[in-house]
Amino acid sequence: MKRKTRRHGNAETRRSPRVSAPPCLRVLFVALFVASSAIQFAPSSRAQTRQRPGAHSTVSRENFTAADRRLVEKAIGATCTERVRDPLGSMPIDEMQARPSLPVNNPDAVAGARRAERLLPTTRTLVINAILQLAKEYDLYGSGNDRARITAATQRVDAVKRIKPDVDARDNASVILREPRTIEFGTIFLAGLRSDEAMISVLAHELTHIASGQPDSLRPLFRAIGRRAAVRTGLRIQGQRAEELACDLVGVMAARQFINQNPGWEPLPRRVARAFEHNCVDDDESDEDHLSPRNTIRALLALDVSVAGEVLSEAVGVIARPADTRVDIVSSSFLRFN
Ligand SMILES: [Zn+2]
Repeated sequence: MKRKTRRHGNAETRRSPRVSAPPCLRVLFVALFVASSAIQFAPSSRAQTRQRPGAHSTVSRENFTAADRRLVEKAIGATCTERVRDPLGSMPIDEMQARPSLPVNNPDAVAGARRAERLLPTTRTLVINAILQLAKEYDLYGSGNDRARITAATQRVDAVKRIKPDVDARDNASVILREPRTIEFGTIFLAGLRSDEAMISVLAHELTHIASGQPDSLRPLFRAIGRRAAVRTGLRIQGQRAEELACDLVGVMAARQFINQNPGWEPLPRRVARAFEHNCVDDDESDEDHLSPRNTIRALLALDVSVAGEVLSEAVGVIARPADTRVDIVSSSFLRFN
């Protein structure tokens, strides 16, 4: 398969949202959020996580109990219920696919494009934070080579400046790796993502493809994330599927950081669900490069059970985050380029 673009859906390209398997959002907050909220909802893993907030033990990370699995399954249903209730709920991608093309000047597409442009700078920073966090969490930040690879990846993220609406891309978003400064966004997709959280999640997915870029710098991280998700779900998650899942994971992480930084009165479960609810499809098909949309939700929640806990919580407003969540990661000099 070609590497020049990354799009979800089209066989010819490589990533982004796509047809049966959505765009891309997935996260991992392991160190920070497992240490905080995950614990509250997954008692079985609590002691372990609490002992070692922010720690990087493979043992604790691989621990995924039967109770966690039940929590994840329950949260999948809650996510899709919340989507229906939410006035800003995302359109499921199978519904997007069934729609006729939208012209660039369609008001909903225009609103989506403006939203994407407004959120792109913020999302770049959130993605850089998330990639650094994941690299540390998966022990891929220890050597000089590791750090150089991650730094190059985050610099590529920082160079993305443009959103390009495209009628023919329909319900896809994509990036071209040889020209990695633009995210192409189908107008149906722009119109179907009605919240900042959903938009950030998809933008972050695309930015993560760009981060890995032509050198495939993040491949070790993608593989590690895919392996962990496969162990926890029993799903086959290798190759491109691992990359797509990892991009979705960064999307969820970015959306959660955004929620933390922008508290409000909307219910927390509603805001968190927006990061992946476009996967709430009736037509749940997979393909070689993507898990099915509902299995995508399953794998994301299995990777970070704290997200499942948040979707099932009664919370309003902000996540009770550890004070150092953002600063801890951002204080790194690796964020300073140019
Ligand atoms: Zn993708």
